[in-house]
Amino acid sequence: MLKVENITFTYNVKSTDAPVLNTIDFTVNKGEHISIIGESGSGKSTLLKLIYGEYDLNEGQIFWKDKEILGPKYNLVVGYDFMKYVAQEFDLMPFITVEENIGKHLSNFFPEEKKERVQELLTVVELQDFVKTKVKTLSGGQKQRVALARALAKQPEIILLDEPFSHIDNFQKQSLRRSVFAYLKEKNITCLVATHDREDVLGYADRMLVLHDSKIIANNSPQELYRHPELPLIASFFGEVNVLDNVIVFAHQLKSTDSSDLKAIVLRSYFKGHYYLIEADYQGAIIRFEHPTALEKNREVFLEEIKRQ
Ligand code: ADP
Ligand code: MG
Repeated sequence: MLKVENITFTYNVKSTDAPVLNTIDFTVNKGEHISIIGESGSGKSTLLKLIYGEYDLNEGQIFWKDKEILGPKYNLVVGYDFMKYVAQEFDLMPFITVEENIGKHLSNFFPEEKKERVQELLTVVELQDFVKTKVKTLSGGQKQRVALARALAKQPEIILLDEPFSHIDNFQKQSLRRSVFAYLKEKNITCLVATHDREDVLGYADRMLVLHDSKIIANNSPQELYRHPELPLIASFFGEVNVLDNVIVFAHQLKSTDSSDLKAIVLRSYFKGHYYLIEADYQGAIIRFEHPTALEKNREVFLEEIKRQ
């Protein structure tokens, strides 16, 4: 199990720099899937790097089971066998093949098994047809898949993924996510995924850690955070939000009706596929709701709130 105990970290570029992460404290169970979310610059990547032992902590400690993860000051070779980390900027060896990159750290004693293992990993990342391709000729998304497969090769106990699908086009993302996350669950590999993409989280994460202002502002299941988002920042992860009388109301919770106390004037309709997002003026502020069709500008609408499931 992973224990992150009250860690504080500053990059120390200037001595006056505020900590990027401040008294961060959480645990992760074996096989659990955690999403680390937060705005750009909130410290997601830094947190993963600290867990990997890339920097020395100012305060606090990190353990995997009973083993303390130490920074470079106390551990000359960064990294551990039981943990793999796929950075946002993955580095592969460009002049050798996909197969050679993935098998780099696998033993050559059993060439047949090694070949099968590489094939299995290529299936997980949906890259079966590129075994013999030189990495330098691959697209960014394909390289990202190779980096993922390489990290999985020796079956780590815990894997840290930083924006793992950011370079992969939308077309292939859904299927790749399902494949990779199903594989991790099946093998009971603990995984921490830093992301700002809700699609990486919903349906997969057991828990979400939300970073904001160098702190964890939420640590709970996606279901729980959706039902009781304490802040608009958290709610906005699940969809468009309105704050009405200090209460968070999702755009999909507002429905037009014949008459109500909530009268708004339509400003704009955005096509969203199976619905339109309507922007309207409500007492001088913008209110957003979902509607099956576009609505004409300046039209009057009455809205009612439907309960969140
Ligand atoms: P995220 O991954 O959530 O976008 P990061 O962990 O990359 O956030 O960055 C958190 C903060 O730390 C940002 O303000 C960033 O500018 C700063 N930072 C990141 N890496 C370094 C570095 N190597 N040296 C100094 N500051 C850094
Ligand atoms: Mg990052």
